Amino acid sequence: MFRIGFGNDVHRLVEGKPLILGGLRIESDLGAEGHSDADALTHAVTDAIFGALALGDIGTHFSDGQERWRNAESFVFLCYAVGLMKEKGFAVVNVDSIISLEKPKLREYIDEIREGLAAVLEIEQSCISVKAKTGEGMGSVGERKAVKAEAVILLHRP
Ligand code: MG
Repeated sequence: MFRIGFGNDVHRLVEGKPLILGGLRIESDLGAEGHSDADALTHAVTDAIFGALALGDIGTHFSDGQERWRNAESFVFLCYAVGLMKEKGFAVVNVDSIISLEKPKLREYIDEIREGLAAVLEIEQSCISVKAKTGEGMGSVGERKAVKAEAVILLHRP
């Protein structure tokens, strides 16, 4: 049985915060603001897993009203989702994702992001696609007000 899931996320960019994407710290003058570490890509992938399993979303499982999740590393959320997935007998087939960020260029970070996600999702790096887009100077991404991420995931239960 196959299940597909989709997730997206957006975080405001501000000065004085780190920019974490897919668990990796990105060198940037602006960082992402949020209750946890504000890792938009990891949140999108986590939501895609919850979506594939029809188990709500990241907010259902990790309310941002809870003090314990303040500044939490988002891989904690992702690992939890992977645990639920495995409990239900599913494994990841592949992931495709897009990060929308005006600056900096993410090319040099992409393979390390893929490697980190592959380890948590327990699949080969070749099954994880991470693409980077800019906003061409327009809208919240283009004006460097936001970082966005979208992800689709395919799960399989033999
Ligand atoms: Mg988020």
